[in-house]
Amino acid sequence: MYEPVLVLNANFEPINVCTTRRALGLVINGKASLVLNGRGEIHTVTQSYPRPSIIRLDQMIKRPRPTVRLTKREVLRRDDFTCQYCGHLAPYLTIDHVIPRRLGGQHSWDNLVAACPSCNHHKGGRTVEQAQMRLLHSPKEPAASVYYMFSRHLVDNQAWLPFIEGW
Ligand SMILES: [Zn+2]
Repeated sequence: MYEPVLVLNANFEPINVCTTRRALGLVINGKASLVLNGRGEIHTVTQSYPRPSIIRLDQMIKRPRPTVRLTKREVLRRDDFTCQYCGHLAPYLTIDHVIPRRLGGQHSWDNLVAACPSCNHHKGGRTVEQAQMRLLHSPKEPAASVYYMFSRHLVDNQAWLPFIEGW
């Protein structure tokens, strides 16, 4: 009941991912329609329902421009799981404050980068210039495109691709 279900707005724009339980509630209450099943059925004592993979809201909803939440995971994803100093695709990455916090550096998209432990250790509490290092890219907030927001679910939900592409 907690598998992710892709929620489309009435115009088919992907807007959210919710649980099977919530999706089924929306369908049963007439607020959304099933777009893609593909996962069999859910049986209750008296009825069975298709187990949704994608649903679409019947009424168009307005919402603010989506933003990517600032988390360690999202910083690593923005940086392609690559150390932004040496370029290594390290199995374990840390988050580096480009301008160290003690020098007034903020916890913000433009001051956080993925760094391998050895680069992070080498840089220490110094600025990039002081440490004589270089950033591969200057960090900024990722655009919250539909593809960016939902593509990480594609690994487990290939069938979502046609609904995510092109927005
Ligand atoms: Zn590194």
